[in-house]
This record gives sequence, structure tokens and C-alpha cells, in this order.
Amino acid sequence: MLPAFVDHHVHLHLIDSTGLPRRGIAAVVDLGGDPVALARRVDGLPRVSYAGAFVTVPGGYPLGRSWAPESIVRVVTTSSRHPGVSGGARTAVDAQSDAGASVVKVALNADAGPVPDDDTLAAIVDAARERGLHVVAHAQGEGQVERAIETGVSALAHTPFDAPLPRRLLARAVAAGQAWISTIDIHRGTAREIAIANVRAFAARGGRVLYGTDLGNGELPLGVNRRELRALHEAGVRGDALVAALADPWPSTTPIHGVSTFIPGPAPTDPDGIPTWLSRGTVVPTEELTRVD
Ligand SMILES: [Zn+2]
Repeated sequence: MLPAFVDHHVHLHLIDSTGLPRRGIAAVVDLGGDPVALARRVDGLPRVSYAGAFVTVPGGYPLGRSWAPESIVRVVTTSSRHPGVSGGARTAVDAQSDAGASVVKVALNADAGPVPDDDTLAAIVDAARERGLHVVAHAQGEGQVERAIETGVSALAHTPFDAPLPRRLLARAVAAGQAWISTIDIHRGTAREIAIANVRAFAARGGRVLYGTDLGNGELPLGVNRRELRALHEAGVRGDALVAALADPWPSTTPIHGVSTFIPGPAPTDPDGIPTWLSRGTVVPTEELTRVD
């Protein structure tokens, strides 16, 4: 028996989530969806946290993508910190918070279009903090990871995969308590190698790593993703640290009660077998588990 596992990066509107508990996932964090649909959602998952819509600027990511209908994108046109301003940064955050979001997802993808300027980004981060929300950034392209770290963004939606991070930035991210959501398995080739090197360096310095797959983005297994676990293991996030990345209740601070992960059979003696073993987990009500000594 292990604590309940969380996929910290999914898009529920792109997947059928009903089978997730059978395949080991008890809770998810939706990082980009329709806030109204998410607020009304009915499904069998013990816990769903969400960001609501992507907060972006005119022409910015992910506007125009086939998987991103207008309802999942919130366009900010002014850095206004006043409530109720049309297109204002504060208004965008308030709308997600009012729909029950516990995080705000900001698009800092400079490879895909314009990104919020410094004023707007700071206004988003401050408004989120006032509402008690975390800010998670999709940081991609020249200088964007650095901006996310310097501005006090609390989590990165993806392990940085553009370039190896300088030690100074890694140290700042760790010192700030920033969390990185792994999503290594969406990459192949060089981007994958860079992501593994970055998460290795981050974890080795004590950085908080969260298991996450970006489920809904391309062909990924519905449930605990063995390849993601193997990539984390390769990056040195092993054993107890790997379980911690899976069981971290972020963005909540409250552990998930009532359900646990059950894995049949003893843990393998070979550490290299642990990712595969963990991927065989299934979600069960804790009260149904009886210890057999
Ligand atoms: Zn995503």
C-alpha cells in the first residue's frame, strides 16, 4: 500500500478520465481547460484540481491550436490590477479563481507567439497570490524559464527542455521552492535528453519534482506512465523520491484521504525494476486493504 498517486499535468477535455483509477491515478491537476466545464465536472476521480483557462496575450500560445477552443484560453490585454477591468490581468485571475481554480496557468511560450510583458506577468502573479492560488507557467523559448523563476512563478508545467539551465538559475528555483512538473515522456531526442539533465540537476539540489505527463497531449497511456517513471528514475529521482513525486498533493497541502495505491506483489529488489512495479498500481479504498503479515 502506498499513498494515492497524482498526475500533476493533464487536460481532461482531451481524454477519457474514467479509467484512470484502475490504472493507478487517483487525482489529477488540469492545467488548461474550460473553467465552467471544470467547475461543473462530474467524474469518478477522488480529487481534481485545475487551473481553468490558459492565461495568455493576444496572438499568444495556445490560441488557434486545434485542441484549444476559445473557452480554454483567457486573453489579457492590459496589466491592470483593478478588479472588473475587461481584458485586465487581475480580472483574468479572478475569473479562474471564481470558477474554483487552485492554480493559474500562464503561457510563457515565446516559440509560439507573444508572451505577457513583465508588468502583466507580475500583475498575474500578484493577483494569484492575493487569491491564494499557485501560478504555473508553460515556459519555453529564449529567457522564459528565467523569467518564470525571477517572477516567483510557483511551478513549471514542464521540466525545462530548451537548453541546460545554468547553475545560478537552478539554485534560485530550488531556493524559491519552485516545483517542476516532469512531463519528460512528451519529448524525444535532444529535448528529452535536456529535460532529463535539467531535472537531474534540479532534484540533486533538492528541487521539488512532481510527476506529471501532460496527458491529452498526443499518444500517452491513460494511467501511470511507465516511461515517465523510467525517465525520472534515469534522472536520479528514484525509490522514495519517485513515490514522493507521484504522491505529492500539490497544489493542495492536504494528502488525499480515503484511497490508496495498491500494488500486487513485493517491491523488486533491483532498484531498476521499481518504475515498472509502480506502474502496476491501482487505486483502492484504503478501508478495503487488509494487512497480511
Ligand atoms: Zn499541457
